[in-house]
Amino acid sequence: MLIDMHVHCNELKDLDHYSGSHLFACVAEDVETSKATIELSRRFHFIKPCVGIHPWNIARSSVEEARSLMEIAVSNNIECLGEVGLDSRFVPETLPRQREVFKIFLDYAREYDLVLNLHTAGTHREVFQMLKTWRVEKAYFHWYTGPEDLIKELIDSGYFIGVNPSWKIQEKHYRIISKTPLSNLLTESDAPYQYKSLSLNPELISDSLDLLARLHNLDREIVEEKIEENFRRLFTR
Ligand SMILES: [Zn+2]
Repeated sequence: MLIDMHVHCNELKDLDHYSGSHLFACVAEDVETSKATIELSRRFHFIKPCVGIHPWNIARSSVEEARSLMEIAVSNNIECLGEVGLDSRFVPETLPRQREVFKIFLDYAREYDLVLNLHTAGTHREVFQMLKTWRVEKAYFHWYTGPEDLIKELIDSGYFIGVNPSWKIQEKHYRIISKTPLSNLLTESDAPYQYKSLSLNPELISDSLDLLARLHNLDREIVEEKIEENFRRLFTR
């Protein structure tokens, strides 16, 4: 099974195509897409739904909305919150409200042992500190491009780092992937995002597995199994 730990399923066409070959953790960006993602997971059983409010959408969301979304998550037995986190790089103007909302998500993650599917642009260290303060155990740093000297602390805490196909053109991400042990990596596409010349899509995960096989001098099948094991470990309750 190919793992896509961070994919915006509500924006993808032809999800059926991945049934039987992939396992998806589908992220949402607001209340509406959270509900749509829960719906999708009822139709497609290879999908783990994540619900949340993307840091980019905080300006048009309220703290009350975040709370009611968490009640929806609990009543639907949702195991994952995402895409959530903090972003000081693209939307620094909403940081105070982002923190307020993210704390609500952390409270629920702590109480219900939820997986966090994290967006941490410019805030890697701050988010890491918050995870420790809240004693959140299951965290995934989507498309990690943060400080390289934080990787060891992330690993020691049992957190996971996302391998995005952007490594093909993003040197820093490539370096991070090659420094991180396989035991703490998960593959993702962030589809259908357009990153420079790359149209990110789940088909590219196969190339990421080939890269990991080369970096670790392992058979591609072994790498595929290990990444799937990591995914199942993260979602163990
Ligand atoms: Zn995303």
